[in-house]
Amino acid sequence: MMASRQLAIGLTVFVDGVREGVLACEDAAAGKWDVLLEDGSDEHGVAAERIALSPSSLRVEKPILSVKPIPRRAFEVDPTRAWDIVRSVRGDARKLAIDDFCGEKLPPKRDGTLRFVCISDTHSYESKTMSMSTALESIPDGDVLLHCGDFTNTGKLAEVSAFAQWFGKLPHARKILIAGNHDLALDEASYAETARRFGHGAQTDVAGTCAKARALLEAIPNCEYLEDEGTEVEGIRIWGSPWQPEFCDWAFNLPRGEACREVWRRIPADVDVLLTHGPPLGHGDLCSSGMRAGCLDLLDEVQLRVRPRYHCFGHIHEAHGVTTDGQTTYVNASTCNMRYRPINEAIVFDIELPQRLAAAGVTAAAGATLEHAAVPMGGKGGEAREAGENEGGACGGGGEGGCCGGVRRPQSTQSVPNAQDVNSAPSPPSSQSPSRCVLA
Ligand code: MN
Ligand code: MN
Repeated sequence: MMASRQLAIGLTVFVDGVREGVLACEDAAAGKWDVLLEDGSDEHGVAAERIALSPSSLRVEKPILSVKPIPRRAFEVDPTRAWDIVRSVRGDARKLAIDDFCGEKLPPKRDGTLRFVCISDTHSYESKTMSMSTALESIPDGDVLLHCGDFTNTGKLAEVSAFAQWFGKLPHARKILIAGNHDLALDEASYAETARRFGHGAQTDVAGTCAKARALLEAIPNCEYLEDEGTEVEGIRIWGSPWQPEFCDWAFNLPRGEACREVWRRIPADVDVLLTHGPPLGHGDLCSSGMRAGCLDLLDEVQLRVRPRYHCFGHIHEAHGVTTDGQTTYVNASTCNMRYRPINEAIVFDIELPQRLAAAGVTAAAGATLEHAAVPMGGKGGEAREAGENEGGACGGGGEGGCCGGVRRPQSTQSVPNAQDVNSAPSPPSSQSPSRCVLA
């Protein structure tokens, strides 16, 4: 399965680790390929097991998708309308079969790959006793466990501690974690305000509490907590960022436009696996209300400049699943569904080890990422919006399970979300808000 998903006609590959060529034809039934080799000869019927992607294929040297600039008007409307504009120039999202990424049909890991297991939005369920079996009890084995944030309900120290205990006991050799908007004590800049609104009691030492929360995560064995920073596993590069477009004044919120763009610009161009809490526009971001909540600036940076192999996120619980734009595979790994039940299975994918190629005498430099010219729409569009044109709205939701209903970022405590339609989700101290927020 992994072979057929990763290999495609036109990709540059190595046969038996040494002979470079291009995939020309597939015999899907037999799982074999014809390869046009560099010396002009060709080899027929090569088994997928003998084929490794070259670094140039790993870095997708030539963009597969059209990279026409996003029309400026897309940056001036709400995300739902923006997506109609964007997909007309960048192409639509294609849904991939979920059975290829989770469940009983998942094949064993192939040699020469790393297996990534991705979860998100577990919302302190490790501490709850459920009458039903949940996805948290059956997280598949793998080399690297990824968690895309919202690991607590409101980021109280006790919740962070319970999560850390549970996460630390999972058997995966490497764990990579980011925070989400619910993980309040991880965002020191907003914690004085959010602690008050979410009933954490009087906070006389905001910095101290936040440092404790961070220390709890940093003490998890074999785990890295990433906050606008990267790491590597066996040469595969990973970047994590907790931010999302304004979401009812929770943690790690930013106004749409330049503020978001600024954090996305910090993602290096050579990242293989990108973790963000929120989705990009158009992929895994469709709310049950029919509105979209993804970030246009994130999509633009991902498609034009970063072009990771995988972009993993959560936040929009009802949009669990996998999509592609032909270049990047987008994973919404929300473990909780929109009713806050932790029933969505972990999403699993395998990535070819770069070392395998290095061992064959191929340097990663051979496949260095193409550097694109500066993205024109980012700067200019952003500046315009910074002047207060953020009328497009906070996010795409509105109805049950929706988000902020297209209102501007609230300026006061009226931004307390409305928890009425969420089972067993945390109830904030007041719900005066005109915004209709799901506690995603
Ligand atoms: Mn969230
Ligand atoms: Mn969530």
